[in-house]
Amino acid sequence: MSTVHELPYVWLNGTLVPRAEATLPIGSAAAFYATNVFEGIRAYWNAADGELYCFRLDAHLRRLRESMKMMRFTIPYRDEELVAAIGDTLRGNEVRDDVHLHLVAYVLGSGLEATAPTGVYINARRRGRMTPPGTGLRCCVSSWTRTSDNAIPIRLKCGANYQNARLALLQAKADGYDAPLFLNRFGKVAEGTGATFFMVRRGQLITPPVTSDVLESITRDTLISEICPRLLGLEVIERDIDRTELYVAEEAFFCGSGYEITPITSIDRLPVGSGEVGPLTRRITEAYMNLVRGIDRRYPEWRTPTYRQAAAA
Ligand code: PMP
Repeated sequence: MSTVHELPYVWLNGTLVPRAEATLPIGSAAAFYATNVFEGIRAYWNAADGELYCFRLDAHLRRLRESMKMMRFTIPYRDEELVAAIGDTLRGNEVRDDVHLHLVAYVLGSGLEATAPTGVYINARRRGRMTPPGTGLRCCVSSWTRTSDNAIPIRLKCGANYQNARLALLQAKADGYDAPLFLNRFGKVAEGTGATFFMVRRGQLITPPVTSDVLESITRDTLISEICPRLLGLEVIERDIDRTELYVAEEAFFCGSGYEITPITSIDRLPVGSGEVGPLTRRITEAYMNLVRGIDRRYPEWRTPTYRQAAAA
């Protein structure tokens, strides 16, 4: 898995503060129950443009608002203010490199008040790819079940959901795997701990539907709506996936803002296809990485510039 390097400053409720001063009250719902919702967003350095591009900020902010609605709280910032705050965080840390940032909206007090006091922080870290190029993850089907929509919904991106992920990830590592793959309450394939799942079977790209206890992933949408059909001429089928289909898939990969496109080369110690990174996975990875970095110039509305943003203001 990728290594992470912290940056000196964190944006906390309107100001950049040194990392050590970015703290939460220990008795708050945010610290004690992980009462928060958040987004994980990547920004990519394009050396030729001398620019740092944040990928699909609009979609991330829309999902943040949806998570807050489900969690019944609001924050005192408009989307434009949050976009400006992300820019301030990246420029304040003088980022000229690829980073992954967390935008976290949290609840103070007990968290049970009708109108609870809230806050926001933005924490950016330098972070590379999940696996070295040409390699993939050794996955297992987890014995932990993905939490369900009527219990702790995964559609809602809250910190507490990641306890389900932690249980499965540490179990997988204890058993000698790199990462777990969750089945949902119906025994169908759901997703990874922080990534959506795709596989290739008989040449077709398949991913579970958004009603299978998965996050409504922005990367998944980028692949299904644009990259696969329009740039690569590949249709993606959204349908349930059975566990045994994993064992006879030709290719498999995780996708997500943090995971980007991360190949899976074995599941339950059975090789996926040849056990090497497959050709469709390679093509999709290349198309995705070129698009997010702005080497492929199409979809400019998906890339928010960091330094031009400040110059324009
Ligand atoms: N599922 C979960 C549980 C996640 O945490 C993530 C990462 N946000 C994803 C899927 C992928 O979502 P996205 O493509 O929007 O980053």
